[in-house]
Parts: sequence; C-alpha cells; structure tokens
Amino acid sequence: MQATSRWLLCLSSELSFSLNEKATVLAGIDNEVVRSASQEFEMPSVILLSRYVRIPNARRVPVSRRGVLRRDAQRCGYCAGPANTIDHIMPKSRGGMDTWENLVACCLECNNSKGNRTPAEIGWNLKVLPKMPTGTVWSVRGSERPLPEWSEFLALQARAA
Ligand SMILES: [Zn+2]
Repeated sequence: MQATSRWLLCLSSELSFSLNEKATVLAGIDNEVVRSASQEFEMPSVILLSRYVRIPNARRVPVSRRGVLRRDAQRCGYCAGPANTIDHIMPKSRGGMDTWENLVACCLECNNSKGNRTPAEIGWNLKVLPKMPTGTVWSVRGSERPLPEWSEFLALQARAA
C-alpha cells in the first residue's frame, strides 16, 4: 500500500507541474489516463521542465546486472572473452557488496573456475578497473528498461554524453 501511495505522490507532483505550466508533456502513454477530481489527463511519460528540478542522489547511478554488462561492453573482466554473467570480485559469501566497484562482467567459464575466491588468491588480474559509470546517458532513471516513447529523447542524450 505504501508503494502505491508513493507512486501516486510522484505522479501527482508531475501533474501539478503541468497544471502550473512549469512542465510540458512531450509524450504520453497511449490509452492510459489519470484522473483528478475534476479533470482527466493522458499519463505523461516524458515531460519538459521549464525550470531545473534537482533529483535527490542523481549523481549516484543505481547498480544493476544489466548495467554492469553494459559498462564492461559484455567483455569478461578476467579473460576479455564474451561475458553474460557478472562476478562479485570479493565473493558475496565473504562480504562482497553489490557495488560498481565490486562487480565485473564475467564469462561463465571464468565465473565457475573462480568460485568462492578472490582474483588475488588464484593469481588472476582484472583487465579493467571497475567503477561507477559516468555520463549523461547513465543518469537517466529507468534507462535500463526504456519505454518506446523515450527513444527519441534518449538518442539525444546519447549524442550529448
Ligand atoms: Zn572469462
């Protein structure tokens, strides 16, 4: 119930932007509408703010499996072969965290032979220095699973980055 009310709160603040003409709806989600007590709106999916609104923690890019694979261009951090898994450099079972610095793209073969050990323990060297990715395109919230309506705007972001 709490998640729902938080979502509604976000949504209503976006709508109040448009009502105050601080924001323009650039794209909506087809056939989805939201209703206030007196009016009906197309559900916004892209809004243009006429004034910059600071997003809390915007500089912190949320870590995800897909994000790590994308950051490392789907190359294994240990052998540079094609990767489709991710590895905790310090194994999770030994306190390794889900952070950009502790996660690296990894091929299945390296992942299996590394097992529950650190690279140092088996004499492996990382070919990359894992860190949080930077650049405009990484700061777009939800860009891992973009809505089709966003494609035009995300392409602009990628060119600007
Ligand atoms: Zn590998």
